[in-house]
Amino acid sequence: MLKSLSNIKGNQTEYFSGVNGIKKLYKLVAKNWHAKDTLYIAAAPVDSFKRLEKFFLEMIHKKRVQDKVILKILINKDAESYGIVRKNMPYTQVRFLDVKTTAEYGVLNDLLFLVNYGDFPYAILIRDKKVADTYKEFFNILWNHGRKISIPPLIEDNESIDKIIAKYKKYNPIVITDPYNFEKIKKISQAICVFDNKFENVDKIKKIIAKKKNGIIIGFGGCAALDAARMCSSKELPCIIVPSILSTVCISIDKAVFSLDGKTKSFQTEVPKEIIFSLPIVKKTDHESLIKWAQSGFGDLFAKIGAAIDVVFRETQKTKDMITVEKIRRKIPETMEALDWALNYFKNYSNRDLEHLAAFLHEASVSIILQDSFELSGGGEHELAYNIERRFKKENNPWPTHGQIVSIGTLIELKILAEITSDSRLFDKVCKVYKKLKLPTNYKMLKKIGIEREYILQGIKNIKNIKNSNTLLGHNPALALKLLDKIFEK
Ligand SMILES: [Zn+2]
Repeated sequence: MLKSLSNIKGNQTEYFSGVNGIKKLYKLVAKNWHAKDTLYIAAAPVDSFKRLEKFFLEMIHKKRVQDKVILKILINKDAESYGIVRKNMPYTQVRFLDVKTTAEYGVLNDLLFLVNYGDFPYAILIRDKKVADTYKEFFNILWNHGRKISIPPLIEDNESIDKIIAKYKKYNPIVITDPYNFEKIKKISQAICVFDNKFENVDKIKKIIAKKKNGIIIGFGGCAALDAARMCSSKELPCIIVPSILSTVCISIDKAVFSLDGKTKSFQTEVPKEIIFSLPIVKKTDHESLIKWAQSGFGDLFAKIGAAIDVVFRETQKTKDMITVEKIRRKIPETMEALDWALNYFKNYSNRDLEHLAAFLHEASVSIILQDSFELSGGGEHELAYNIERRFKKENNPWPTHGQIVSIGTLIELKILAEITSDSRLFDKVCKVYKKLKLPTNYKMLKKIGIEREYILQGIKNIKNIKNSNTLLGHNPALALKLLDKIFEK
Protein backbone atom coordinates (compact mmCIF):
# COMPACT_ATOMS: atom_id res chain seq x y z
CA MET A 1 0.00 0.00 0.00
CA LEU A 2 2.74 2.40 1.02
CA LYS A 3 4.53 1.73 -2.25
CA SER A 4 1.57 2.06 -4.55
CA LEU A 5 0.49 5.39 -3.06
CA SER A 6 4.00 6.75 -3.24
CA ASN A 7 4.17 5.72 -6.83
CA ILE A 8 1.02 7.59 -7.73
CA LYS A 9 1.80 10.78 -5.88
CA GLY A 10 5.54 10.75 -5.54
CA ASN A 11 6.52 12.23 -2.22
CA GLN A 12 3.20 13.99 -1.79
CA THR A 13 1.35 11.08 -0.21
CA GLU A 14 2.25 8.78 2.62
CA TYR A 15 0.43 5.80 4.12
CA PHE A 16 0.62 4.88 7.80
CA SER A 17 -0.53 1.50 9.05
CA GLY A 18 -1.97 0.57 12.45
CA VAL A 19 -2.04 2.51 15.72
CA ASN A 20 1.74 2.87 15.64
CA GLY A 21 1.48 4.30 12.16
CA ILE A 22 -1.01 6.90 13.38
CA LYS A 23 1.39 7.85 16.15
CA LYS A 24 4.14 8.24 13.57
CA LEU A 25 1.91 10.50 11.49
CA TYR A 26 1.10 12.75 14.44
CA LYS A 27 4.78 13.00 15.36
CA LEU A 28 5.49 14.02 11.79
CA VAL A 29 2.78 16.68 11.94
CA ALA A 30 4.29 17.95 15.20
CA LYS A 31 7.68 18.20 13.51
CA ASN A 32 6.19 20.38 10.78
CA TRP A 33 4.46 23.02 12.90
CA HIS A 34 5.77 26.42 13.96
CA ALA A 35 4.66 28.87 16.63
CA LYS A 36 1.28 30.50 15.85
CA ASP A 37 0.34 27.82 13.29
CA THR A 38 -3.17 26.42 13.60
CA LEU A 39 -3.93 22.72 13.57
CA TYR A 40 -7.50 21.87 12.55
CA ILE A 41 -9.11 18.53 13.47
CA ALA A 42 -12.60 17.37 12.44
CA ALA A 43 -14.50 15.45 13.71
CA ALA A 44 -12.53 13.61 16.33
CA PRO A 45 -14.25 10.28 17.05
CA VAL A 46 -14.42 8.62 20.46
CA ASP A 47 -12.24 5.74 19.20
CA SER A 48 -9.31 8.07 18.60
CA PHE A 49 -9.27 9.02 22.27
CA LYS A 50 -9.90 5.50 23.48
CA ARG A 51 -6.92 4.22 21.53
CA LEU A 52 -4.49 7.10 21.81
CA GLU A 53 -5.44 9.48 24.63
CA LYS A 54 -2.24 8.95 26.61
CA PHE A 55 -0.12 9.51 23.50
CA PHE A 56 -2.06 12.63 22.52
CA LEU A 57 -1.78 14.19 25.97
CA GLU A 58 1.83 13.32 26.67
CA MET A 59 3.45 13.41 23.24
CA ILE A 60 1.41 15.80 21.12
CA HIS A 61 -0.40 18.37 23.27
CA LYS A 62 2.47 18.96 25.66
CA LYS A 63 4.73 19.81 22.73
CA ARG A 64 1.99 21.75 20.95
CA VAL A 65 1.43 24.03 23.94
CA GLN A 66 5.18 24.49 24.39
CA ASP A 67 5.49 25.36 20.71
CA LYS A 68 2.50 27.75 20.97
CA VAL A 69 0.56 26.02 18.22
CA ILE A 70 -3.18 26.66 18.18
CA LEU A 71 -5.59 23.72 17.99
CA LYS A 72 -9.13 24.10 16.71
CA ILE A 73 -10.80 20.78 17.26
CA LEU A 74 -14.31 19.56 16.54
CA ILE A 75 -15.20 16.61 18.74
CA ASN A 76 -17.99 14.09 18.30
CA LYS A 77 -20.82 14.13 20.79
CA ASP A 78 -19.93 10.76 22.34
CA ALA A 79 -16.42 11.97 23.12
CA GLU A 80 -17.40 15.15 24.94
CA SER A 81 -15.55 14.27 28.12
CA TYR A 82 -12.26 14.30 26.15
CA GLY A 83 -13.20 17.71 24.84
CA ILE A 84 -13.52 18.98 28.38
CA VAL A 85 -9.94 17.90 29.10
CA ARG A 86 -8.79 19.91 26.06
CA LYS A 87 -10.90 22.97 26.81
CA ASN A 88 -8.64 23.87 29.68
CA MET A 89 -5.43 23.62 27.63
CA PRO A 90 -3.78 26.84 26.44
CA TYR A 91 -3.93 27.64 22.68
CA THR A 92 -6.94 25.36 22.32
CA GLN A 93 -10.47 25.91 21.03
CA VAL A 94 -13.00 23.09 21.28
CA ARG A 95 -16.44 22.71 19.77
CA PHE A 96 -18.73 19.73 19.66
CA LEU A 97 -20.53 18.20 16.69
CA ASP A 98 -23.57 15.95 16.99
CA VAL A 99 -22.17 13.38 14.56
CA LYS A 100 -20.89 9.86 14.83
CA THR A 101 -17.80 9.10 12.76
CA THR A 102 -14.95 6.62 12.94
CA ALA A 103 -12.49 8.68 10.94
CA GLU A 104 -11.18 12.22 11.31
CA TYR A 105 -9.19 14.62 9.20
CA GLY A 106 -6.62 17.19 10.13
CA VAL A 107 -5.10 20.20 8.40
CA LEU A 108 -1.83 21.92 9.20
CA ASN A 109 -0.60 24.46 6.65
CA ASP A 110 -0.20 22.45 3.42
CA LEU A 111 -0.71 19.07 5.10
CA LEU A 112 -3.99 17.19 5.02
CA PHE A 113 -4.26 13.88 6.85
CA LEU A 114 -7.08 11.39 7.11
CA VAL A 115 -7.15 8.95 10.00
CA ASN A 116 -9.40 5.92 10.24
CA TYR A 117 -9.74 4.53 13.77
CA GLY A 118 -11.93 1.56 12.78
CA ASP A 119 -11.04 -2.12 13.07
CA PHE A 120 -7.92 -1.71 10.92
CA PRO A 121 -6.60 1.73 11.82
CA TYR A 122 -4.56 3.60 9.25
CA ALA A 123 -3.82 7.12 8.08
CA ILE A 124 -3.00 8.91 4.85
CA LEU A 125 -1.03 12.13 4.65
CA ILE A 126 -1.29 14.38 1.61
CA ARG A 127 1.13 17.25 1.12
CA ASP A 128 -0.74 19.60 -1.21
CA LYS A 129 -1.61 23.21 -0.39
CA LYS A 130 -4.72 23.32 -2.57
CA VAL A 131 -6.18 20.17 -1.06
CA ALA A 132 -5.31 21.33 2.46
CA ASP A 133 -6.91 24.77 1.88
CA THR A 134 -10.05 23.14 0.51
CA TYR A 135 -10.43 20.99 3.61
CA LYS A 136 -9.78 24.03 5.80
CA GLU A 137 -12.78 25.67 4.09
CA PHE A 138 -14.88 22.59 4.90
CA PHE A 139 -13.63 22.81 8.45
CA ASN A 140 -14.81 26.40 8.81
CA ILE A 141 -18.32 25.46 7.72
CA LEU A 142 -18.41 22.63 10.28
CA TRP A 143 -16.91 24.90 12.94
CA ASN A 144 -19.84 27.29 12.57
CA HIS A 145 -22.17 24.38 13.22
CA GLY A 146 -20.23 23.29 16.29
CA ARG A 147 -21.64 23.69 19.76
CA LYS A 148 -19.74 25.52 22.44
CA ILE A 149 -20.15 24.27 25.95
CA SER A 150 -19.04 26.48 28.75
CA ILE A 151 -17.72 24.42 31.56
CA PRO A 152 -16.75 26.17 34.76
CA PRO A 153 -13.20 25.41 35.87
CA LEU A 154 -12.54 24.01 39.35
CA ILE A 155 -9.80 26.14 40.84
CA GLU A 156 -7.91 25.03 43.90
CA ASP A 157 -7.08 28.11 45.94
CA ASN A 158 -6.12 27.37 49.50
CA GLU A 159 -6.97 30.80 50.86
CA SER A 160 -9.39 32.01 53.50
CA ILE A 161 -12.75 33.35 52.33
CA ASP A 162 -11.64 36.89 53.27
CA LYS A 163 -8.71 36.68 50.86
CA ILE A 164 -10.82 35.12 48.10
CA ILE A 165 -13.39 37.92 48.37
CA ALA A 166 -10.59 40.50 48.41
CA LYS A 167 -9.36 39.21 45.05
CA TYR A 168 -12.69 40.23 43.46
CA LYS A 169 -12.86 43.63 45.13
CA LYS A 170 -12.57 45.58 41.89
CA TYR A 171 -15.81 43.95 40.67
CA ASN A 172 -17.77 45.24 43.67
CA PRO A 173 -18.82 41.74 44.75
CA ILE A 174 -21.87 40.73 46.74
CA VAL A 175 -21.73 37.50 48.71
CA ILE A 176 -24.78 35.27 48.97
CA THR A 177 -24.29 33.01 51.94
CA ASP A 178 -26.07 31.07 54.71
CA PRO A 179 -26.68 31.78 58.41
CA TYR A 180 -23.53 29.87 59.42
CA ASN A 181 -21.30 32.32 57.59
CA PHE A 182 -23.36 35.52 57.35
CA GLU A 183 -22.22 37.24 60.59
CA LYS A 184 -18.58 36.93 59.61
CA ILE A 185 -19.02 37.79 55.93
CA LYS A 186 -21.11 40.92 56.42
CA LYS A 187 -18.19 42.49 58.28
CA ILE A 188 -15.94 42.22 55.24
CA SER A 189 -18.25 42.51 52.24
CA GLN A 190 -21.73 43.29 51.00
CA ALA A 191 -23.65 40.14 51.84
CA ILE A 192 -27.09 38.58 51.75
CA CYS A 193 -28.20 35.70 53.95
CA VAL A 194 -30.26 32.82 52.54
CA PHE A 195 -32.03 30.67 55.11
CA ASP A 196 -33.70 28.05 52.93
CA ASN A 197 -34.39 27.08 49.33
CA LYS A 198 -37.70 28.90 48.91
CA PHE A 199 -38.15 30.39 45.46
CA GLU A 200 -39.41 33.68 46.93
CA ASN A 201 -35.81 34.42 48.03
CA VAL A 202 -34.74 34.87 44.42
CA ASP A 203 -36.88 37.93 43.68
CA LYS A 204 -35.97 39.53 46.97
CA ILE A 205 -32.24 39.09 46.35
CA LYS A 206 -32.50 40.31 42.76
CA LYS A 207 -34.19 43.50 43.97
CA ILE A 208 -31.45 44.17 46.51
CA ILE A 209 -28.72 43.52 43.95
CA ALA A 210 -30.36 45.76 41.33
CA LYS A 211 -29.78 48.77 43.57
CA LYS A 212 -26.15 48.01 44.32
CA LYS A 213 -24.49 47.84 40.91
CA ASN A 214 -22.46 44.74 41.76
CA GLY A 215 -20.17 43.30 39.12
CA ILE A 216 -20.03 39.79 40.50
CA ILE A 217 -21.90 37.45 42.85
CA ILE A 218 -19.96 35.17 45.14
CA GLY A 219 -21.99 32.19 46.35
CA PHE A 220 -20.45 30.92 49.56
CA GLY A 221 -21.78 28.07 51.69
CA GLY A 222 -23.93 24.98 51.18
CA CYS A 223 -26.42 24.18 48.44
CA ALA A 224 -29.13 26.74 49.32
CA ALA A 225 -26.65 29.64 49.13
CA LEU A 226 -24.98 28.32 45.98
CA ASP A 227 -28.33 27.72 44.26
CA ALA A 228 -29.48 31.26 45.07
CA ALA A 229 -26.18 32.71 43.79
CA ARG A 230 -26.51 30.85 40.48
CA MET A 231 -30.17 31.73 40.14
CA CYS A 232 -29.53 35.46 40.62
CA SER A 233 -26.56 35.53 38.23
CA SER A 234 -26.76 36.53 34.58
CA LYS A 235 -24.43 37.07 31.63
CA GLU A 236 -23.84 40.63 32.85
CA LEU A 237 -23.57 39.59 36.50
CA PRO A 238 -21.64 36.31 36.64
CA CYS A 239 -21.21 34.26 39.78
CA ILE A 240 -18.33 32.51 41.47
CA ILE A 241 -19.03 29.49 43.64
CA VAL A 242 -17.12 28.79 46.86
CA PRO A 243 -18.52 25.70 48.59
CA SER A 244 -17.97 25.55 52.36
CA ILE A 245 -19.00 21.89 52.49
CA LEU A 246 -18.69 19.07 49.96
CA SER A 247 -22.10 17.58 50.58
CA THR A 248 -23.84 17.11 47.21
CA VAL A 249 -23.41 17.02 43.46
CA CYS A 250 -24.48 20.66 43.23
CA ILE A 251 -21.27 22.61 43.27
CA SER A 252 -20.66 23.25 39.57
CA ILE A 253 -23.99 22.85 37.80
CA ASP A 254 -25.98 25.31 35.68
CA LYS A 255 -29.21 24.55 37.52
CA ALA A 256 -30.72 25.44 40.85
CA VAL A 257 -33.29 23.65 42.97
CA PHE A 258 -36.00 25.59 44.82
CA SER A 259 -39.25 24.78 46.51
CA LEU A 260 -42.14 26.49 44.79
CA ASP A 261 -45.78 25.96 45.84
CA GLY A 262 -44.74 23.04 48.04
CA LYS A 263 -42.94 21.26 45.21
CA THR A 264 -39.23 20.83 44.56
CA LYS A 265 -38.38 22.25 41.15
CA SER A 266 -35.21 22.58 39.15
CA PHE A 267 -34.43 25.80 37.24
CA GLN A 268 -31.92 26.52 34.49
CA THR A 269 -29.27 29.10 35.46
CA GLU A 270 -26.14 30.59 33.98
CA VAL A 271 -23.04 28.43 34.22
CA PRO A 272 -20.92 29.72 37.12
CA LYS A 273 -17.77 31.53 36.04
CA GLU A 274 -15.58 29.41 38.26
CA ILE A 275 -15.70 27.10 41.26
CA ILE A 276 -13.15 27.74 43.95
CA PHE A 277 -12.22 24.86 46.19
CA SER A 278 -10.30 25.82 49.31
CA LEU A 279 -9.29 23.04 51.67
CA PRO A 280 -8.86 25.42 54.66
CA ILE A 281 -12.46 26.64 54.16
CA VAL A 282 -13.88 23.12 53.96
CA LYS A 283 -11.83 22.08 56.99
CA LYS A 284 -13.05 24.98 59.11
CA THR A 285 -15.93 22.96 60.51
CA ASP A 286 -15.32 20.46 63.35
CA HIS A 287 -14.03 17.04 62.38
CA GLU A 288 -17.28 15.20 63.00
CA SER A 289 -19.31 17.56 60.81
CA LEU A 290 -16.61 17.53 58.18
CA ILE A 291 -16.90 13.75 57.89
CA LYS A 292 -20.69 13.90 57.95
CA TRP A 293 -20.77 16.36 55.03
CA ALA A 294 -18.08 14.61 53.01
CA GLN A 295 -19.90 11.31 53.56
CA SER A 296 -22.97 13.02 52.21
CA GLY A 297 -20.99 14.13 49.15
CA PHE A 298 -19.94 10.56 48.43
CA GLY A 299 -23.50 9.31 49.06
CA ASP A 300 -24.91 11.77 46.53
CA LEU A 301 -22.10 11.02 44.06
CA PHE A 302 -22.76 7.28 44.15
CA ALA A 303 -26.51 7.89 43.85
CA LYS A 304 -25.59 8.35 40.19
CA ILE A 305 -25.27 4.56 40.11
CA GLY A 306 -28.90 4.26 41.18
CA ALA A 307 -29.85 6.85 38.57
CA ALA A 308 -27.90 5.02 35.84
CA ILE A 309 -29.63 1.75 36.76
CA ASP A 310 -32.96 3.53 36.20
CA VAL A 311 -31.88 5.02 32.87
CA VAL A 312 -30.75 1.58 31.63
CA PHE A 313 -33.92 0.03 33.06
CA ARG A 314 -36.07 2.46 31.03
CA GLU A 315 -34.03 1.85 27.89
CA THR A 316 -34.30 -1.92 28.21
CA GLN A 317 -38.03 -1.66 28.80
CA LYS A 318 -38.30 -0.14 25.33
CA THR A 319 -35.84 -2.46 23.59
CA LYS A 320 -36.71 -5.63 25.58
CA ASP A 321 -32.98 -6.03 25.98
CA MET A 322 -31.30 -7.31 29.14
CA ILE A 323 -30.08 -5.03 31.92
CA THR A 324 -26.39 -5.59 32.50
CA VAL A 325 -23.79 -4.10 34.81
CA GLU A 326 -21.75 -3.19 31.71
CA LYS A 327 -24.54 -1.02 30.30
CA ILE A 328 -24.73 0.82 33.62
CA ARG A 329 -20.97 1.26 33.75
CA ARG A 330 -20.98 2.85 30.29
CA LYS A 331 -23.52 5.48 31.38
CA ILE A 332 -21.40 6.78 34.23
CA PRO A 333 -17.72 6.02 33.59
CA GLU A 334 -16.53 8.86 35.80
CA THR A 335 -18.62 7.67 38.77
CA MET A 336 -17.31 4.14 38.31
CA GLU A 337 -13.79 5.54 38.34
CA ALA A 338 -14.58 7.35 41.58
CA LEU A 339 -15.90 4.07 43.01
CA ASP A 340 -12.67 2.26 42.11
CA TRP A 341 -10.68 5.10 43.56
CA ALA A 342 -12.62 4.96 46.85
CA LEU A 343 -12.14 1.21 47.04
CA ASN A 344 -8.39 1.37 46.48
CA TYR A 345 -7.15 4.71 47.74
CA PHE A 346 -9.60 6.30 50.16
CA LYS A 347 -8.00 6.88 53.57
CA ASN A 348 -10.44 7.99 56.24
CA TYR A 349 -11.26 11.51 55.04
CA SER A 350 -7.70 12.79 54.73
CA ASN A 351 -6.93 16.10 52.97
CA ARG A 352 -6.18 14.19 49.80
CA ASP A 353 -9.53 12.39 50.04
CA LEU A 354 -11.32 15.74 50.29
CA GLU A 355 -9.45 17.08 47.26
CA HIS A 356 -10.48 14.01 45.32
CA LEU A 357 -14.07 14.35 46.47
CA ALA A 358 -14.15 17.98 45.28
CA ALA A 359 -12.88 16.88 41.87
CA PHE A 360 -15.40 14.01 41.66
CA LEU A 361 -18.32 16.24 42.63
CA HIS A 362 -17.15 18.81 40.10
CA GLU A 363 -16.94 16.21 37.33
CA ALA A 364 -20.34 14.83 38.24
CA SER A 365 -21.78 18.36 38.09
CA VAL A 366 -20.10 19.02 34.76
CA SER A 367 -21.62 15.88 33.30
CA ILE A 368 -25.03 17.25 34.34
CA ILE A 369 -24.25 20.40 32.33
CA LEU A 370 -23.17 18.31 29.33
CA GLN A 371 -26.21 16.06 29.39
CA ASP A 372 -28.47 19.01 30.15
CA SER A 373 -30.54 16.80 32.42
CA PHE A 374 -30.74 15.54 35.96
CA GLU A 375 -31.60 12.08 34.63
CA LEU A 376 -28.25 10.62 35.57
CA SER A 377 -27.93 12.33 38.93
CA GLY A 378 -31.05 11.08 40.67
CA GLY A 379 -33.43 8.15 40.27
CA GLY A 380 -35.38 5.78 42.50
CA GLU A 381 -33.00 6.31 45.41
CA HIS A 382 -33.83 10.05 45.44
CA GLU A 383 -37.56 9.29 45.23
CA LEU A 384 -37.29 6.98 48.20
CA ALA A 385 -35.30 9.57 50.15
CA TYR A 386 -37.87 12.33 49.49
CA ASN A 387 -40.65 9.90 50.42
CA ILE A 388 -39.09 9.04 53.77
CA GLU A 389 -38.25 12.68 54.41
CA ARG A 390 -41.78 13.96 53.76
CA ARG A 391 -43.26 11.45 56.11
CA PHE A 392 -40.80 11.04 58.96
CA LYS A 393 -38.59 14.10 59.16
CA LYS A 394 -39.49 16.05 62.27
CA GLU A 395 -37.93 19.15 63.74
CA ASN A 396 -35.43 18.39 66.50
CA ASN A 397 -35.05 14.72 65.55
CA PRO A 398 -31.62 13.61 64.45
CA TRP A 399 -31.88 13.39 60.69
CA PRO A 400 -29.40 12.23 58.04
CA THR A 401 -27.91 14.53 55.43
CA HIS A 402 -29.19 14.42 51.85
CA GLY A 403 -26.32 12.20 50.66
CA GLN A 404 -26.65 9.80 53.59
CA ILE A 405 -30.36 9.28 53.01
CA VAL A 406 -30.09 8.79 49.23
CA SER A 407 -27.31 6.24 49.84
CA ILE A 408 -29.96 3.87 51.27
CA GLY A 409 -31.92 3.67 48.04
CA THR A 410 -28.77 3.20 45.97
CA LEU A 411 -28.05 -0.02 47.89
CA ILE A 412 -31.65 -1.20 47.44
CA GLU A 413 -31.58 -0.55 43.69
CA LEU A 414 -28.25 -2.35 43.44
CA LYS A 415 -29.61 -5.36 45.32
CA ILE A 416 -32.65 -5.55 43.04
CA LEU A 417 -30.29 -5.36 40.08
CA ALA A 418 -28.18 -8.17 41.57
CA GLU A 419 -31.32 -10.31 41.99
CA ILE A 420 -32.64 -9.87 38.46
CA THR A 421 -29.28 -10.18 36.72
CA SER A 422 -27.79 -12.82 39.08
CA ASP A 423 -24.74 -10.56 39.11
CA SER A 424 -23.94 -9.12 42.52
CA ARG A 425 -20.49 -7.68 41.65
CA LEU A 426 -21.55 -4.08 41.70
CA PHE A 427 -23.65 -4.45 44.85
CA ASP A 428 -20.74 -6.12 46.66
CA LYS A 429 -18.33 -3.45 45.51
CA VAL A 430 -20.54 -0.57 46.59
CA CYS A 431 -21.05 -2.26 50.00
CA LYS A 432 -17.28 -2.45 50.43
CA VAL A 433 -16.91 1.20 49.50
CA TYR A 434 -19.73 2.25 51.86
CA LYS A 435 -17.94 0.44 54.70
CA LYS A 436 -14.75 2.36 53.99
CA LEU A 437 -16.65 5.65 53.82
CA LYS A 438 -18.71 4.66 56.90
CA LEU A 439 -21.97 5.13 55.02
CA PRO A 440 -24.71 2.98 56.59
CA THR A 441 -24.78 -0.67 55.52
CA ASN A 442 -26.93 -2.10 58.34
CA TYR A 443 -29.90 -1.20 60.54
CA LYS A 444 -27.67 -0.34 63.47
CA MET A 445 -25.80 2.30 61.49
CA LEU A 446 -29.06 3.58 60.00
CA LYS A 447 -30.52 4.04 63.47
CA LYS A 448 -27.50 6.13 64.41
CA ILE A 449 -28.25 8.64 61.67
CA GLY A 450 -31.96 8.72 62.59
CA ILE A 451 -33.45 6.17 60.17
CA GLU A 452 -35.59 3.26 61.46
CA ARG A 453 -36.30 0.10 59.46
CA GLU A 454 -39.96 1.09 59.55
CA TYR A 455 -39.26 4.37 57.70
CA ILE A 456 -37.68 2.53 54.78
CA LEU A 457 -40.51 -0.02 54.69
CA GLN A 458 -43.10 2.76 54.56
CA GLY A 459 -41.01 4.70 52.07
CA ILE A 460 -40.92 1.75 49.67
CA LYS A 461 -44.63 1.07 50.11
CA ASN A 462 -45.32 4.70 49.25
CA ILE A 463 -43.27 4.50 46.07
CA LYS A 464 -46.14 2.47 44.63
CA ASN A 465 -48.25 5.58 44.99
CA ILE A 466 -45.89 7.81 43.04
CA LYS A 467 -47.33 8.35 39.59
CA ASN A 468 -44.86 8.02 36.73
CA SER A 469 -42.22 6.49 38.98
CA ASN A 470 -40.34 4.94 36.13
CA THR A 471 -37.52 3.48 38.18
CA LEU A 472 -36.31 -0.03 38.89
CA LEU A 473 -37.28 0.44 42.53
CA GLY A 474 -40.66 1.93 41.59
CA HIS A 475 -41.39 -1.13 39.46
CA ASN A 476 -40.25 -3.66 42.05
CA PRO A 477 -41.46 -2.52 45.47
CA ALA A 478 -42.44 -6.06 46.56
CA LEU A 479 -39.00 -7.39 45.68
CA ALA A 480 -37.39 -4.43 47.45
CA LEU A 481 -39.37 -5.20 50.62
CA LYS A 482 -38.31 -8.83 50.42
CA LEU A 483 -34.65 -7.92 50.01
CA LEU A 484 -34.51 -5.21 52.65
CA ASP A 485 -33.45 -7.42 55.57
CA LYS A 486 -30.94 -9.23 53.37
CA ILE A 487 -29.25 -5.90 52.72
CA PHE A 488 -29.35 -4.29 56.12
CA GLU A 489 -29.68 -7.06 58.73
CA LYS A 490 -26.02 -7.66 59.33
ZN1 LIG B 1 -28.93 14.43 45.33
